This record gives sequence, structure tokens and C-alpha cells, in this order.
Amino acid sequence: MNCPQCNSEMEQGFLQGRQRVAWVKKRHNFTLLPKPGEILLANNAFGDFLFPAWICKQCRMILLDYADKADCKG
Ligand SMILES: [Zn+2]
Repeated sequence: MNCPQCNSEMEQGFLQGRQRVAWVKKRHNFTLLPKPGEILLANNAFGDFLFPAWICKQCRMILLDYADKADCKG
């Protein structure tokens, strides 16, 4: 995977965190319920989430793969 900004090879790893994460168009309140066109990536009240992800530390850019998320909208 190449960085969309500087085009150099990105380092593969994972984006790991806890509870909820969503791609949103505008900042929501903390419930993070997705609106049309938005994507709820993880919703684990008590667990971790883990996504395959690539990082460019030069540009401070992360790309993540959410292909296995069945319940996404948009
Ligand atoms: Zn880059």
C-alpha cells in the first residue's frame, strides 16, 4: 500500500482501540449513531476493535481496511 500523499510504501499493522469508532461527516455527540452516508466501524461496549491498517509516519496518515464490517451503512 502506498501513501496517497507522498506515495512511499506504508507500514502494515493494525489500528486498535476500545469501544466505538465511526467515520462521520460532522462531529456528533458521543453516541456515534451513524447518519445516512456515515459508517459505524466498531461498536463494542466492553471489547477492543482491531482493523488492518497502514501507516505513513512521515505524513502522519493512516489507511484502514473495514471490508469485514457487515453492518456498515452508506
Ligand atoms: Zn506519506
